[in-house]
Amino acid sequence: MVQTPAWPPASLPRLYVAPPLSAGATLTLEGPPAHYLGAVLRLGEGDRVKLFDDQTGEWVAEIVAAGRKRMTLAVGAKLREREAVPDLWLLFAPIKRGRIDWLAEKATELGVARLVPVLTRRTIAQRTNSERLLAHMIEAAEQCERTALPALAEPARLADLIEAWPAGRALLFADEQGGAPLAAAAAAAPGPAALLIGPEGGFTDEERAAIRALPQARAVTLGPRILRADTAAAAAVAVWMAAAGDWDRHGDR
Ligand code: SAH
Repeated sequence: MVQTPAWPPASLPRLYVAPPLSAGATLTLEGPPAHYLGAVLRLGEGDRVKLFDDQTGEWVAEIVAAGRKRMTLAVGAKLREREAVPDLWLLFAPIKRGRIDWLAEKATELGVARLVPVLTRRTIAQRTNSERLLAHMIEAAEQCERTALPALAEPARLADLIEAWPAGRALLFADEQGGAPLAAAAAAAPGPAALLIGPEGGFTDEERAAIRALPQARAVTLGPRILRADTAAAAAVAVWMAAAGDWDRHGDR
C-alpha cells in the first residue's frame, strides 16, 4: 500500500488546471481559480498547492506572484501519476437542475470514466448545460483527490446510442420492471461497461424493447423500491464499482 508522503501535507489545496503540466513550468491563473486561491483561501507568495490536469497526474506548485486578479505558479515535482480509471460509462436522462448537478458530482466522486446525457421519450430536460456540469465535476474531482476527470459527452438520442453501441461494451440497463441483480450482472460481465438510468417517467415500452434487443444489453434491477433517477444512478455506480473491484484499490491513493 502506498504510504501518504509526509510532505507535502495532504491538506494542501488542490486545483484542476488546463493541461499540460510539467516540471519547471510557470503558469498564470486568472478569473475564478485566481480568486479562489487569493481571496477565498488567502494564499500568497510562497504558499503551495497541488495541481492536476487530467492528463499528466498531480504536481506540487508554489505561488511565485500573487496579484488581486492573477496568480503565477511555478510547478515543482510530480506527486502522482494520473489514476487508473475503471471503464464505466454512466448514461442518464437529463433531470432538473440541482438534481443533475448532484448526479455529476456523485458520479465523479464514485469514479466513472464518462458521463453521457441520453435523450429519451420521457426526458424532461432536452438540454444540459455542459459548462455548469463540468464545473461541478471539476469541483468534485478537486475535493475527492481524483487526478482524472470523467469525460462529458454531448447529449445523444437513445436510438442513436443503441444503433452505434460498441460491440465490446456491456450495457447494464436499470429496468424498474426487473432484471438480474446489478452486482451479479456486473461480476458476470467484467470489462468495459455502461449503466443506463432512465428519466423520472421511466422508459416507454418501445424503448425498453429496443434496449433489450441489443446483444450487449442486460436488464438489471436495483432492488424492490423505485428509486429516483439521481438516487438510482449513484446507487448503481457504487454497486458496480464495488463489484468490479474498484473498492479493493484503496491503497492506490
Ligand atoms: N416512473 C417510473 C420510474 C422511473 S425511476 C415508474 O414509475 O416506473 C427512474 C429510473 O431509475 C428508471 O428508469 C430506472 O432506470 C431506474 N430505477 C429506479 N428504480 C429502479 C429499480 N428498483 N430497479 C431498476 N431500475 C430502477
